[in-house]
Amino acid sequence: MDKTKIIKDGSQGVTSVQHTTLLIIGGGAAGMSSAIAAGRIAARNGKRCSITLLERNARPGTKIRISGGGKCNVTHGGTPAELLGKGFLRQNEKRFLRHALYSFSNSDLLDLLRSRGVEAEERSDGKVFPLSGDASTVAIAFEGLLKESSVRQLFSCRVRSVECQGEVFLVKTAGGVSFTADVVILATGGVSYSRTGTTGDGLAIARSLGHSIKDSSAALAPLYTVKPPPPSLSGISLRSVGLIASAGGRSVERRGDLLFTHRGFSGPAALSLSRDIAELSTLFGSVVLFADLFPEQSIAELEELLLLHARKSGAQMVRKFLQSCSIAPLRGAFGQALYGTIPTAIVSFLMRQATLENDVTWSGLVKEKRQSLLAVLKRFPLGSVRNVPLDQGEVSAGGVSLGEVNPKTMQSRIVPKLFLCGELLDYAGEIGGFNLQAAFSTGWMAGTHAIDI
Ligand SMILES: Cc1cc2nc3c(=O)[nH]c(=O)nc-3n(C[C@H](O)[C@H](O)[C@H](O)COP(=O)(O)OP(=O)(O)OC[C@H]3O[C@@H](n4cnc5c(N)ncnc54)[C@H](O)[C@@H]3O)c2cc1C
Repeated sequence: MDKTKIIKDGSQGVTSVQHTTLLIIGGGAAGMSSAIAAGRIAARNGKRCSITLLERNARPGTKIRISGGGKCNVTHGGTPAELLGKGFLRQNEKRFLRHALYSFSNSDLLDLLRSRGVEAEERSDGKVFPLSGDASTVAIAFEGLLKESSVRQLFSCRVRSVECQGEVFLVKTAGGVSFTADVVILATGGVSYSRTGTTGDGLAIARSLGHSIKDSSAALAPLYTVKPPPPSLSGISLRSVGLIASAGGRSVERRGDLLFTHRGFSGPAALSLSRDIAELSTLFGSVVLFADLFPEQSIAELEELLLLHARKSGAQMVRKFLQSCSIAPLRGAFGQALYGTIPTAIVSFLMRQATLENDVTWSGLVKEKRQSLLAVLKRFPLGSVRNVPLDQGEVSAGGVSLGEVNPKTMQSRIVPKLFLCGELLDYAGEIGGFNLQAAFSTGWMAGTHAIDI
């Protein structure tokens, strides 16, 4: 039965209303994946239905095109269990995403891309990128898959509201076109990088339909400090250190490279810790940062190693030693520089912080000064965080409460026939391809089940 009809809209006069079986809102990774899955299943089952995707931008996949610095870290290598272990540090998120990542895994995603001629390679750190080195090849592959699956796509079409009206949803767009749909998938993403179209519309829609929304907060975002690092340090990295954030008697730590910027810190350790820091700062206000340059050693082990070195090389200047010793090494504190050395520019700051004379030698280092050096090497103060900018995050944390969504289908537990997927949900993955994979996997699952209703 053709349910397309004209209804009278009290405020705006006569508006056209088109009916579709399944309406998908948002044409990012999750929305495209759900549309393709639904289209394929409908075709395979010979189901007579219409699938419509609405995207507010002029093209789908805007975020995919800018992902991974334009190279698109599309997923991560390993089994689904390994992806969950490395990519999602919070137990409830791991539990929630488990079904989706097993149902549509990284190899399923890579097979799909390969079917459109996009080959990918895994790097030594597990990150997977398209061989083309160009993120747009991934977005174009998905555009092609969408076309193949005869999904009707409308661009520059921003959804304003979704209401339940008996058996159907009434979906109104900013352009005046409205739709009725039997089933709706919300895939409008998070709230960071708002210029890509993610301004939180989907969260407002989910809330209006009765869902609880966990406040959005920054994740995978740079850290801005009250006092920015000296300009001479901007662009310098500390390799594989421990970054510690402390507030209200609590401490959180992450291991990784740390980059000094002109406003504070970035790099994997800072990005990874940013979500916890944003939360700590909401709870306690001021958050203080420290770097542990020898995260593999306890303070006692490091002291023993320093004493041993002092006995062997008493005439050596401590400054010279700091410039050449490897930091965060795995195989002994003073072995081969597996992860790099302390950059020379930072050594003078360490010396000053530990109140050491510039030319002090190991034999001239009294116990009290040695202990102050130890304290600085294990807890090099980096200042207080001023802000973790939400919009600068590669993802945003918060969103639709996971407890209100069935993890085996992505269907809402609050509103029947409403499905939710992607970054709109209250999870946030680590850097490494985990967020795109989660969006593709939850999207695929939503599309698979939504078309089956
Ligand atoms: C700079 C940057 C780099 C990144 N790099 C990586 C990376 O290399 N690897 C990785 O795994 N992850 C990366 N991410 C994260 C990843 O891109 C996202 O987590 C993922 O794209 C989320 O997919 P999604 O479909 O849920 O949301 P999105 O991709 O954000 O898609 C949501 C879509 O919904 C549309 N929309 C919103 N509101 C409406 C409305 N009212 N009506 C119609 N349409 C609407 C938006 O325009 C958007 O196109 C990066 C993110 C950024 C910002």
